[in-house]
Amino acid sequence: MTAQGDEISVRLARSEASGQGAGCRGAAPSDPEARRALPKIELHVHLEGTIRPHTLLAIARRNRLGLPADTVEGLAELYRFTNFQHFLEVWTLTTNCLRTAEDFAQVVVDYAAEAAAHGAVYLEGIFSPAERVATGVSWEALFNGYCDGAQQAEEEHGVIVRLTPDLHWGVDLEDAMEVATRAVAFRERGIVGLGIGGREGACPPAQYARAFALAKEGGLGSVPHAGEGEGPSFVRAVLDDLGADRIRHGIRAAADPALIADLVDRGTVLDVCPTSNLCTRVVANLDEHPVPQLVNAGIPCSISTDDPAMFGTDLGREYKLASRLGLDHRRTYQAGVQGALCEETTRAKLAAVVGSTEWHPVGRRPAAP
Ligand SMILES: [Zn+2]
Repeated sequence: MTAQGDEISVRLARSEASGQGAGCRGAAPSDPEARRALPKIELHVHLEGTIRPHTLLAIARRNRLGLPADTVEGLAELYRFTNFQHFLEVWTLTTNCLRTAEDFAQVVVDYAAEAAAHGAVYLEGIFSPAERVATGVSWEALFNGYCDGAQQAEEEHGVIVRLTPDLHWGVDLEDAMEVATRAVAFRERGIVGLGIGGREGACPPAQYARAFALAKEGGLGSVPHAGEGEGPSFVRAVLDDLGADRIRHGIRAAADPALIADLVDRGTVLDVCPTSNLCTRVVANLDEHPVPQLVNAGIPCSISTDDPAMFGTDLGREYKLASRLGLDHRRTYQAGVQGALCEETTRAKLAAVVGSTEWHPVGRRPAAP
């Protein structure tokens, strides 16, 4: 079982068990209005979960690998997940096609192009090294490929991309230390943090305290998943034991007023992914999503897609959902600036966008004079 695949499979298994299946997924791409896009920052997107059919097809052809369909339309059919087993098959098929540095670079560049069409100016892409290395990919091809892709994405699409490798709960500490060490070694090439995801509660976060300490000593941020599968005590544990600088999801903190107050005091940003939360049944329906409560309490919340190809969503759609929940686009963008792990010169650049943008609700541009 893969790290990110494990994470998603747990979440989709929950969704399937609840009878929701793919019903959470977007019925249609976000409307053209939303695509004409205010600036956006996305801090929580798994690169392996962004791969659309045209990217998969190009990579498979280059590597001379067979796929169940050889057209974009055929693969799009395949992507219409019907159940958990189907999901796992597609996940395995997709990630097993990634072999070379060029493949990893293409994944970043293609997603940056997509996100740019929705107004993205800055992305933090997550990737799961352990599963690829286990299939024979070299550490160098993996890290160099993703970092090359980040550089190329900025040159070609004007989107600044930084990267955060992800561990998974239950990974051997020795492997976790290796990922942390390599992540630090690539700091100058755009690796800005270390994360962890998967089955929350599978083991105590303290188990990885050494790996996260190593990353932080090396200048990286700590960006664990928490408060999605498990509740407030798990969020508390990643703050205390892993020195979390930001939390991926974190929405179940809403159940604990003391934790909310603490997150406000710390200024901890939560990377909230509405469609993902619906797909996995962490939240029963959009009206019950706790993000308005968290924002109103003073917690900065950024908005992301998590796994856009897997959950049938895109960045424009997520911001539109956030808008329906009453979130203010400008404030969401500012949460992104606050939470970004980039160097300060880049943060200043992102912050300057706030003043130079005419903010208006997503989907409703002001009338032309
Ligand atoms: Zn995630």
